[in-house]
Amino acid sequence: MKVLLKGLLSVFKLRKIYALFIVSLSTLPVISAQAEIQLSGEIKQGGLVIGKTHTNDVVTLNEKVLPVSKHGDYVFAFSRDDKTQYTLTITSPTGTVETQTFTPEKRDYKISRVEGISKKIMNPNKKANIRAGEDRAEMVKVRKISSDLTDFSQGFIAPRSSRITGVYGSQRFYNGIPKNPHFGVDYSGQIGAPVTAPASGTVLLWVPDMFYSGGTLVIDHGHGITSNFLHLSASMVKAGDKVKQGQVIAKVGNSGRVTGPHLDWRMNWHKVRFDPQLAMKIIPFK
Ligand SMILES: [Zn+2]
Repeated sequence: MKVLLKGLLSVFKLRKIYALFIVSLSTLPVISAQAEIQLSGEIKQGGLVIGKTHTNDVVTLNEKVLPVSKHGDYVFAFSRDDKTQYTLTITSPTGTVETQTFTPEKRDYKISRVEGISKKIMNPNKKANIRAGEDRAEMVKVRKISSDLTDFSQGFIAPRSSRITGVYGSQRFYNGIPKNPHFGVDYSGQIGAPVTAPASGTVLLWVPDMFYSGGTLVIDHGHGITSNFLHLSASMVKAGDKVKQGQVIAKVGNSGRVTGPHLDWRMNWHKVRFDPQLAMKIIPFK
């Protein structure tokens, strides 16, 4: 009996250690378990992760080479429903290889159902579809850009100090049909209220009248990280302008297809849409 108890206890202890290990991997900000791999951010669906290494190291994420800045900064992100198992590999110029394997933690998103939506809203006309397609093509083009800016490494601050009225990942069902999930963070605000830059960067695009998103501004923070601001009434900046973190860049509006004025802030790592609220939790490296 005593022996059996002892055995059970040691199993329990092992479990506890295992649980601690899992926690340390999944509830970041993490300074990685392996000494050399330094990551900040949450390994979670919709999460953004920034890494720090030596400038001449080669960093790959599942065989895809990630650009490393001259200060050793690199970045990657996980999409809303990402279930991929990733292996991050860092190879030094001398051939030392370090790896870390992880799977983004699963999240539950807010789901709501709306019945009795009119046909007109459900099915926009042909002309509208063409315009929306052109807008999309323009956005696809800017998301392919991978500049060597490293502004993402400074971390991100809220573009407004107002209330958050919509969150990343939430999804509506209209008359039982699932709509695209909401990928932005919505902030309240009246028309003309200021929008500030969450991080420094360069303006990639300003279009005052996209079909769905209305006044749309895109800022490049480097390495494929962009901020997108939707439904704006005005922009104080134009394509090519440099902006500083905290600088007023635009004004809240109700342009495009919205029910009222608000700011919708979205973030991308190239095609991957991640959660700006997780990005704001990142603690930058010194
Ligand atoms: Zn929104």
